[in-house]
Amino acid sequence: MEEKLAIYGGSPIRKNYLSYGKQKIDEDDIEEIIKVLKSDYLTTGPVVYEFEEKISKYVNSKYAVSFSSGTAALHAACYVAGIRSGDEVITSPITFAASANCILYCNAIPVFADINSETYNIDPEDIEKKITRNTKAIIPVDFTGQSVDLDAIKEIARKNKLIVIEDAAHAIGTKYKDKCIGSISDMTVFSFHPVKTITTGEGGMVTTNNEEFYKKLILFRTHGITKEKDLLISQDEGPWYYEQIDLGYNYRITDIQCGLGISQLNKINDFIKIRKELVKIYNEELSKIDGIIIQKEELFSDTSRHLYIIKLELEKFKVGRKEIFEALLAENIGVNVHYLPVYLHPYYKNLGYNKGLCPRAEELYKAMITLPLHISMTKEDISDVTNALKKVLNYYRK
Ligand SMILES: *Cc1c(COP(=O)(O)O)cnc(C)c1O
Repeated sequence: MEEKLAIYGGSPIRKNYLSYGKQKIDEDDIEEIIKVLKSDYLTTGPVVYEFEEKISKYVNSKYAVSFSSGTAALHAACYVAGIRSGDEVITSPITFAASANCILYCNAIPVFADINSETYNIDPEDIEKKITRNTKAIIPVDFTGQSVDLDAIKEIARKNKLIVIEDAAHAIGTKYKDKCIGSISDMTVFSFHPVKTITTGEGGMVTTNNEEFYKKLILFRTHGITKEKDLLISQDEGPWYYEQIDLGYNYRITDIQCGLGISQLNKINDFIKIRKELVKIYNEELSKIDGIIIQKEELFSDTSRHLYIIKLELEKFKVGRKEIFEALLAENIGVNVHYLPVYLHPYYKNLGYNKGLCPRAEELYKAMITLPLHISMTKEDISDVTNALKKVLNYYRK
């Protein structure tokens, strides 16, 4: 046998814990935030609009509307797409719950299409199979940052008169066939949660080229209230006058957060470069280890990677994913799992979804492990991860 695993009292590969994802905040970021704090506006001020402008320029969209979170942005996109009670919306089961919850917020029905077993992205063929008379929209997820096949999905949407709301929470900076993610779908949603590529603490954005969606997004973000003369339903009563013309929310982001967002966006190209380098080293090192399957790269996607996920060939080991996961944790490697298929959460099971709905997603879930990937990581950190994997997998190998 090899040396004793940490889980059985051996010494761990790393002394300190390596987390799976983490933001990087530097002095510029802090200075930008302080500048906002000293200014006249903490919310709905110039820095919010500047951040929106910079994001829309970066992703090459006509419009960008900021929100208090990626989840709020998804909710808004679903609402303005006209998703209402009884409508069906197709999404991926291998995603964060928010991609489906936003459908429930609109009293509509999430329908799950299975994934491709190699790329882990939603399978356009299965999307087509799940379309009914009630289908209103598709929410494809650029999983781990890798673009879905947008041409295929847009063609399905065109034929069936569906709206595409792309969940690109993982994928800011990714390109699909030389076009920026954020410029292609009817609406694209980004998240700026701290584990994502750039952060505002909490925050989100919808980008679109559609003026009607844009105007509705602005309303939805602020209670459905407007001062715009051409939107008023009653007559204008004076300079103070505003009206609520629809039901909306307070989903606004603050200038403080957007100050951080702008400063982070200034560095996004460096962030992406580091992520790409780390992924390249992972791919090289891990392809040498028997029992690990690497996520297949889509040739049409120039990927800014958010998550690094491996799949275990479990038949080669004496134990299951759980034991291997626990052994890696004991080696101080911050592993994770993304994700339990959404419909297997108890809340969804209670709604009537059953095991077996998307077999490929369920099979992936059983064998997947997310490895640490964030821009403060060094080559030595990657070596620790690959060495820990070698140690643990060799120990448990049949
Ligand atoms: C993070 C994430 C969201 C939600 O974003 P928040 O900003 O945390 O609300 C939605 N979808 C996916 C795929 C995500 O990873």
